[in-house]
Amino acid sequence: IIVFDKVTKSYDGTTQVVKSLDFAVERGEFVTLLGPSGSGKTTTLMMLAGFEDPSGGTITFDGRPLNNVPAHRRGIGVVFQNYALFPHMSVAANLSFPMEMQSVSRAEREERVRGALDMVKLGHLADRRPTQLSGGQQQRVALARALVFRPKLVLMDEPLGALDKQLREHMQLEIKHIHEQLGVTVVYVTHDQGEALTMSNRVAVFHHGRIQQLAPPNEIYEKPANAFVASFIGENN
Ligand code: ATP
Repeated sequence: IIVFDKVTKSYDGTTQVVKSLDFAVERGEFVTLLGPSGSGKTTTLMMLAGFEDPSGGTITFDGRPLNNVPAHRRGIGVVFQNYALFPHMSVAANLSFPMEMQSVSRAEREERVRGALDMVKLGHLADRRPTQLSGGQQQRVALARALVFRPKLVLMDEPLGALDKQLREHMQLEIKHIHEQLGVTVVYVTHDQGEALTMSNRVAVFHHGRIQQLAPPNEIYEKPANAFVASFIGENN
């Protein structure tokens, strides 16, 4: 569904923060971009979301160059750590409003909001405001907001970073469950090895703007491609 072909990115014209990325993500896969701070994960995700343009190379999405497809037609949903919910609107309105902007009918909006809130088990809180919810619940609203558009691809950047350990582990299972239930493709950014290894079909280990290894979790564990991967995966485990 996604192909990166020699993709590079430089913000200042001299330093490449992403260096010649070549990789593909299959439809329905859960791929995690894992690596230390500054290794280029978020930049890669931003290019995939269409928020940043590559400095070189091409990204193909569903067989077409990504930048030829208008953003609202791409079928890409995004979930970030700072959920950016509208504080003055109810949970239901937070989900409905973006669809209203795209002229989805009221009946259709209501059905999709209900479906997405059921999916994240928040149907009973539809009339609350985000400020009246816990961090985990707010994160679920942000996820539901991405799902109302029935995206083919969901991009998540450290979505659980603000949550405590127990809630984080619980949400990992929920996200995994939703991924399996919907069969949606997910690209997920984290610097947490445990999170990457439990959730993903494949993990891309980033370092200095390059993918050091892209493989299923057990392979990353058992056959790290180089000393960096071995030491990064070994940390805190
Ligand atoms: P983190 O986990 O800290 O977010 P990351 O692996 O996601 O790290 P990026 O955010 O992609 O890494 O950053 C890679 C490099 O690009 C860093 O050196 C960062 O300072 C730089 N960078 C990121 N965004 C910008 C920007 N908008 N303008 C200039 N430089 C940037």
